[in-house]
Amino acid sequence: MLFSHCNILLADGEIQKDAYLQITDDKITYIGTEKPQAASDTVYDGTNQLLLPGFVNTHSHVPMTLLRSIGADLPLARWLHEAIFPIENKLNKHWAYFGTLLGIAEMLRSGVTSFTDMYFFGEARAKAVLETGINANLSMGILCLDDSSFEKAPMVQETKDLFQQYHNANAGQLKVDVGLHAEYTSNAKIARAVGEYAKEIGANVHIHLSETNKETQECIARHGKTPTAYFNDLGLFDNPTTAAHCVWLTQQDREILAKKNVFVSHCPISNLKLGSGLADMWALAQQGATLSIGTDGAASNDNLNFLEDMKLSAMLQKGLHQDPSIFSAKQVLQMAAKNGAISQGRTNTGTLAVGNQADIVAVDYHSCNLLPKTDMLSALIYAALPSDIKMTMVNGKILYQNGTFTTIDIEKVMYEVEHIGKKLY
Ligand SMILES: [Zn+2]
Repeated sequence: MLFSHCNILLADGEIQKDAYLQITDDKITYIGTEKPQAASDTVYDGTNQLLLPGFVNTHSHVPMTLLRSIGADLPLARWLHEAIFPIENKLNKHWAYFGTLLGIAEMLRSGVTSFTDMYFFGEARAKAVLETGINANLSMGILCLDDSSFEKAPMVQETKDLFQQYHNANAGQLKVDVGLHAEYTSNAKIARAVGEYAKEIGANVHIHLSETNKETQECIARHGKTPTAYFNDLGLFDNPTTAAHCVWLTQQDREILAKKNVFVSHCPISNLKLGSGLADMWALAQQGATLSIGTDGAASNDNLNFLEDMKLSAMLQKGLHQDPSIFSAKQVLQMAAKNGAISQGRTNTGTLAVGNQADIVAVDYHSCNLLPKTDMLSALIYAALPSDIKMTMVNGKILYQNGTFTTIDIEKVMYEVEHIGKKLY
């Protein structure tokens, strides 16, 4: 397949104008201003469009589309116990499957080509991922509120089963991580065992970290140290780890996260909606930490429009530090694509370069909210809407184009979710 007459965002952040990009199977095999010599079966006319690397949503709970907009205006602890947990108790794998399909559709529509997800119902989510063709790193959120052994703790056997059955399924389209829900939903024995188990099987770890001040203060009261120091001392960060939120950090925490190369998933909208606070991502970046962006679940966002999280990621740091020069469009795009891919252990994507996987988004700038075409990258971060995304391709396959999903029967999915909503509420 050949994209012709496009603007192409290159790996160095520069935009190549009126260029060609060719794909062979699932890889990018040519980028240049001359038409490639090799013939193409299909030509995509990219006039007025910008080709970008696909975005990676590094913290989500995708089936929570079924819980969209419930528990509004409650703080995290009450939101969880009064609104979320009672509804989650009623879910089943069939419903979670449709909730996942709905979330994947919503993400593809805003340019997401991969996501890092922690939830229950591993098999239902894996099935949805493999059927739709989107890339994903899935984990179960291991938790333990009593003194159970690691083997008996909730979600441990499910994690083992999921890893055995699906890790690196379909040539790595689907990867399985080891999820530990959080400090306040586990104990030191379990956290240590999670780290050891992840090391033994060579998996990434996914956790919630210092999301609220309450969580952080209670951890200090329990263990005499912050959640970051606590997990570090238990050896968890000896594995490649994605830590979501990181709102309440000390300077020492930032140094630990940078030194241990923990991947931080910034979830600005969720943090704002739940009143958790403003995460100082600039201070973390100063320490050299690798930052990426997450939507969190649709119950605390309340959509999976990744463009909104990119915009907020840039604007909040500028406002927080009263400095418009920080978190440039280029930096935010790197967080959204390349850093996200690195955090997932996917080193052959995240930029448009020859040899990389063809995970590509096409944005149409012939749009009333994007014209005139001045600074295309800045317009992407601050002005683009999902309706400007004309095409989303994952591993060389178009999964979304001109409002149509090629692997999702969206009318059926919406019908099912409507029906599930009536049963749940
Ligand atoms: Zn979360």
